[in-house]
Amino acid sequence: MSSVLDALHLERVSHRFGEIRAADGVSLTVRPGEVVCLLGPSGCGKTTVLRIAAGLERLQSGRVLIGGQVVADGTFDLPPEKRGVGLVFQDYALFPHLNVRDNVAFGLIDARDGEARRARVEEMLDQVGMAGAGDSWPHELSGGQQQRVALARALAPKPRLVLLDEPFSGLDSRLRDQVRDQTLHVLKQSGAATLMVTHDSEEAMFMADRIAVMRHGRIVQVGRPTDLYCQPDSAFVAGFFSEINVLNGIVKDKSVTTPFGALAAGSLGEGVAAAVLIRPEALGLAPVDEQGPEPACVARVLAARLLGRTSLVHLCMGDSGGAHLHLHARVPGQFLPAENDIVAVEMDRRQAFVFPAEECA
Ligand code: ATP
Repeated sequence: MSSVLDALHLERVSHRFGEIRAADGVSLTVRPGEVVCLLGPSGCGKTTVLRIAAGLERLQSGRVLIGGQVVADGTFDLPPEKRGVGLVFQDYALFPHLNVRDNVAFGLIDARDGEARRARVEEMLDQVGMAGAGDSWPHELSGGQQQRVALARALAPKPRLVLLDEPFSGLDSRLRDQVRDQTLHVLKQSGAATLMVTHDSEEAMFMADRIAVMRHGRIVQVGRPTDLYCQPDSAFVAGFFSEINVLNGIVKDKSVTTPFGALAAGSLGEGVAAAVLIRPEALGLAPVDEQGPEPACVARVLAARLLGRTSLVHLCMGDSGGAHLHLHARVPGQFLPAENDIVAVEMDRRQAFVFPAEECA
């Protein structure tokens, strides 16, 4: 159900390009002030959904409402410039023949009062940290600066909805962190609702109040970042948020055996092939204390690498069938045991998930 309080409401939106089903029954709501990210692998339909919301792609099936008003329903499409939406794309798309000030003023062309328009441009440039750059030309700016000007231009007319398509993907990683932090603050300050497309799960977790994960044109799970990370509905969602260890097992007595003990198999039936997905940060490691009690679970270190804030340790564990498991553990700070050291391993069960093995095939 749509409400006038919803900044954007997509209702069973479907879209085909010939045989390709780019969007398949997508329903999603973005509320005022909320940042929602569409997250998914390349080709899953994120950009198509965003373009339909913007009016850049003609709606084939479903409905689009902005601020409670129908803007597309298959019989008519309100043109993009009439939707009151701010757009920011990956390639900045500043007008090369206009300086920064005129780029930002572009969307304010309807504002009759020239003084108010000038003040709004300066206010926006200030908000995105580009005060004083009004006379510069787009080609004189770095990628990060251009992207900030593009954001200022999109927000200048005070849109109730902002649509961002991979806005940081053209930036190198240090600059990306900075620009997205600033973008989040500016968006939150503006009070606009935001729908942003990204294929980067960390970026989605950084930016989003809620994330909608897409696969093959469908939204497979929507929720707060913590919901998706801690309670994924599927192996796909669990694996999309981080590299993940996969162990195979068979459901017996409603559970699956792992080297770390039995895990509840949920709704999986007896004898079903199951995959246990364990996040690398779920594995806690400690040196084996020769004098202390024998640890419940040990592993041999294959390699250990410092990755900055965490250490990645490659482990080898023998399973009961005599086979060997290769697992990755990610531990905070510096933990760099030598190759072939034996370490004690514990698993945080909250970060281990059981799904049908066929989901991981
Ligand atoms: P990416 O992250 O790579 O941009 P995406 O999730 O945004 O991917 P879309 O760009 O929406 O995905 O594309 C969804 C599917 O529709 C893909 O298979 C794509 O090749 C196809 N597609 C998108 N636009 C067109 C088009 N104009 N003509 C034909 N096929 C298209």
